[in-house]
Amino acid sequence: MYQLTYGLFVLTSRLGTKDSGCIINTAGQVTSSPNRISITVNKDNYTHDLVKESGKFNISVLSERADFEIFKHFGFQSGRTADKFSGYEACSRSENGIYYITKGTNAYISASVWQTLDLGSHTMFIADVGDMELLAPDASATYGYYQSSIKPRPEKKASTGKTAWRCTVCGYVYEGEELPADFICPICKHPASDFEKIV
Ligand code: FE
Repeated sequence: MYQLTYGLFVLTSRLGTKDSGCIINTAGQVTSSPNRISITVNKDNYTHDLVKESGKFNISVLSERADFEIFKHFGFQSGRTADKFSGYEACSRSENGIYYITKGTNAYISASVWQTLDLGSHTMFIADVGDMELLAPDASATYGYYQSSIKPRPEKKASTGKTAWRCTVCGYVYEGEELPADFICPICKHPASDFEKIV
């Protein structure tokens, strides 16, 4: 499955006066006439509920200039408990009134939901493309580029022979012989099963 490639996007939506956004890697064009895209979103994401209720969303395409902070901001906290746009300045509203991200991105696409498909843990939304805009000439970031060049590299340890555990999602390093089975990454909130042993 790791041989599949994906882009990376900030999905944003708005319901009433509530804005939120999250990171997804599942946006793609499905038809050209009419121009439609699909996104697939985990139901745990607050933004999922905003898209489902409002039927509208924006996709901001993350570029190779995106820094880790964007992934932390939109990916490692929940819109249910944090207002991700409170004080966030690198954004603007498109014609549909929804925010798009202006820094670390190269384009945004606005879309209106045409059909939804319940996939269990996720919902797939197929949507008509509305207005869109190129924002920067930078290359789009792939998930592979995120892994190799955006995610922080763990610092090289002195040769103490100490065992440590590295979060494969965000790079956080836990030092210790054994990683507690119920350990949760303090940065990205992924479980112990997403850690790898390093020495
Ligand atoms: Fe992590």
